[in-house]
Amino acid sequence: MKFIKDSAIVVTGRDLGESDMLITFITREHGKMKAVAKGARRSRKRFLNALEPCTLLDFRIVPSRSSGLGRLDSVEVSENYPAIRSSAKCFMFASLCCELSDLWIHENDQAPELFKLFQWYLESIDKNSTNALRHTLAFKTRLLALAGYRQAWDRCVICGINPRGSKVGFGIDQGGCVCSSCGAEGMLLKDVSTGTLRSLAYLDSSGLPALDRLKMTRASMKEAWQLLSALHRHLLQRTPKSYNVLDSTLLPELNPS
Ligand SMILES: [Zn+2]
Repeated sequence: MKFIKDSAIVVTGRDLGESDMLITFITREHGKMKAVAKGARRSRKRFLNALEPCTLLDFRIVPSRSSGLGRLDSVEVSENYPAIRSSAKCFMFASLCCELSDLWIHENDQAPELFKLFQWYLESIDKNSTNALRHTLAFKTRLLALAGYRQAWDRCVICGINPRGSKVGFGIDQGGCVCSSCGAEGMLLKDVSTGTLRSLAYLDSSGLPALDRLKMTRASMKEAWQLLSALHRHLLQRTPKSYNVLDSTLLPELNPS
């Protein structure tokens, strides 16, 4: 029998019929893939809890000849990130990244950069939860770029200059900031601080190990979070479920004390 073998991160699992589950993976070599885990609901032992979101594993899938949906044959967990699971906040952040990856990436689209980014992200917040918010912001800026929506964070999309002054508009349909000379009329977001936009540019393009050098105030992290959430919602034309909990728990914490 010919198997598909790959490394993958579990992003979602949902019940299928009375005893099976449908699992979605972001894989190293096959992009986003779905597979049926037979009997996974009836006996958790069958896959040893390996199918929880945010698990890194190696799998073997038996491809289907007809429906296109393969059957999960075996899995071997490489990492299940216990520190993320024991922190409610880290788990909410990681769950949002799972949901966004699932929404942005089409099945069978190649996504080797996303797999690498995701693996780095889970490792980094598992090791050090104090970075979780900043690294989630970096994940979200980079996911937009991987999906084909790289933003001009700190360069006016009309005249190309790095805007001066403290506040500028941000055009969601225009894909970036607009300086005051070009006019921010009609922009979806007005009065975004240029400091926050410079931080977003850094989160988008610095080397991953250099991310920890970025200093951001709480107000700036809040603004970056709101801007990125608005962008993801607008471009996806829907609100990912994870935002409902995150917005109510995270945003109040980021208010200046
Ligand atoms: Zn301009």
